[in-house]
Amino acid sequence: MDFELPEEHQLAYESAYAFAQDEIKPHSVEIERTDEFPPWIWKRLAEQGYTGIAVPEEYGGSGGDFLMAALVARAIGRANSGISMSFGAHLNLCAHNILRNGTEQQKRTYLPGLTSAELIGGLGLTEPNAGSDAMGIQTAAREVAGGYVLNGTKVFITNGPIANVLIIYARTNLAAGSRGITAFIFETSTPGYSVARKLEKLGMHGSPTGELVFEDAFVPCENVLGKVNEGFKVVMSGLDLERAFFAVSMVGGIEAALEVSLKYAKERYQFGQPIANFQLIQAKLADMYTDLEAARLMAHRCMWLAQQGKRVSKEAASALLFTARAAMRAADEALQIHGGWGYLTDFEVEKMWRNAKLGEIGAGTNEIRQLLIARELLGMR
Ligand SMILES: Cc1cc2nc3c(=O)[nH]c(=O)nc-3n(C[C@H](O)[C@H](O)[C@H](O)COP(=O)(O)OP(=O)(O)OC[C@H]3O[C@@H](n4cnc5c(N)ncnc54)[C@H](O)[C@@H]3O)c2cc1C
Repeated sequence: MDFELPEEHQLAYESAYAFAQDEIKPHSVEIERTDEFPPWIWKRLAEQGYTGIAVPEEYGGSGGDFLMAALVARAIGRANSGISMSFGAHLNLCAHNILRNGTEQQKRTYLPGLTSAELIGGLGLTEPNAGSDAMGIQTAAREVAGGYVLNGTKVFITNGPIANVLIIYARTNLAAGSRGITAFIFETSTPGYSVARKLEKLGMHGSPTGELVFEDAFVPCENVLGKVNEGFKVVMSGLDLERAFFAVSMVGGIEAALEVSLKYAKERYQFGQPIANFQLIQAKLADMYTDLEAARLMAHRCMWLAQQGKRVSKEAASALLFTARAAMRAADEALQIHGGWGYLTDFEVEKMWRNAKLGEIGAGTNEIRQLLIARELLGMR
């Protein structure tokens, strides 16, 4: 039994970590202030080959596998969680989805642009009235000559305000529940599409989130991803991988919280000594480390299983549930260790705390993860 990462993956992680510390972290204050994903970072991510990981070279990709892609997201997340989230939506939710479900023509049309980051990708499932109840979406895709016209609103879409290509789920049969949903590859230059607003949010700055409106926006038949009325299968095809990817990437946030806490505990003096000497502070550090180890092992294992094509729904949901909670606990303790200074925006721990909360909500909430795990344990559908 070998719990270490394969050498190739370890090297990829270390190199992405060095890149993110050198090139992304120094800009984090500015990214936090503007809440913009700087365009030049897309370019640098592409130059490193990161936006093409797990995509075959024939489509412009740089090879590797999903675990490697997630490890790069973890390394980036250690420097900046918002950038990591946008990277994940672009690569994992959009490009990998097209790779998994697309026709040869779709892969040749979209993957080279996505892997070179000339095109920015995302995925739009959530709507104002359909979040956890994702199969309750109402955006309609009405069949017309040569394709479909989309009408409806998507909300909370990562990269929405800057995306060129979106995987959009819409209803092709109003009466058929989850069997009436179709996935489309949608180009945002299409007339009838607009970004209603960029959403202002608590954390994950640098990762633009949008509310998107479709008003008679045409999408050709050849852009149906998967089959008509089988969008549910497209959702399910990547769900375990997406949850595992998100879990691995969130480990970066726990690492960053522990790192700043160790440093501060040694530097901050109270009662004539570093606060690191106090056992109550040591207990927090030890708990953070324990959470980190457990989250890392669960997330890596689950990604390793998922990329072998194994069905790991409860493992992926539990890895994500645990990692999200661990990340929230770590950010909370990091802030506590920094005392009043941690509450100020001068230090980055308050940002970590705001960022960590998203882990308990995005990609399905903690409650939905719990339901999924319990239903599988109980043998319920
Ligand atoms: C920053 C950010 C980025 C996002 N990016 C994307 C994206 O790129 N693409 C995309 O499609 N979506 C995206 N989302 C949407 C995200 O997936 C949803 O927010 C999430 O699924 C929850 O949906 P909701 O917000 O509508 O909450 P609701 O579903 O309204 O839930 C509200 C509360 O009720 C609970 N609840 C709901 N149903 C049940 C139940 N059956 N049992 C027990 N409790 C329940 C929930 O757990 C939650 O606590 C993003 C969200 C955020 C905040």
